[in-house]
Amino acid sequence: MANIPQLEHVLPGPALLSVNEMCEMAPGIPWSNQILDDLLDTLSNANIVPEINLSPPIKGITRIQAGIFRERTKKVKGVWQCRIMATVLYYSTDIPNEHPAEMGQKHFPMDRMGMKAAFEFLRTTVQNIKRRGLCEPCHARERPMKRLRVDGTGLCFTCLLKKAALE
Ligand SMILES: [Zn+2]
Repeated sequence: MANIPQLEHVLPGPALLSVNEMCEMAPGIPWSNQILDDLLDTLSNANIVPEINLSPPIKGITRIQAGIFRERTKKVKGVWQCRIMATVLYYSTDIPNEHPAEMGQKHFPMDRMGMKAAFEFLRTTVQNIKRRGLCEPCHARERPMKRLRVDGTGLCFTCLLKKAALE
């Protein structure tokens, strides 16, 4: 925390905001060990998968889900070892049972630092999905594909590669 005031002289407004955001779990809720411990205790008993519906859709994306799970890895001397799994899914239509696309899945240690890192991973990933939006040529196919755009190109990785290397 001690170096934050110095950053004000170096970073412009938006960058400073993002640094400060990392110090808070949510606006007005600073991270604390008690919060992290409560989250870890809750994770033992339940899977947490909140979602937001985007209306109107953002660049073709209608719904985003962010999940944090407790995942068993292996048994050591009869005791299950666990880790945190964080995953982000996004949708492009409101069709029931639509198969979502996965933006990112990452594992973290089942401790305070892991829990904090999982939340920050989810927040960053959701922001990236909203910023990028869907590749329109892929989304307009007969079987639509939910590929994210590469910033500033309007195209996904595959379409951009095709354009740059094959056309
Ligand atoms: Zn594409």
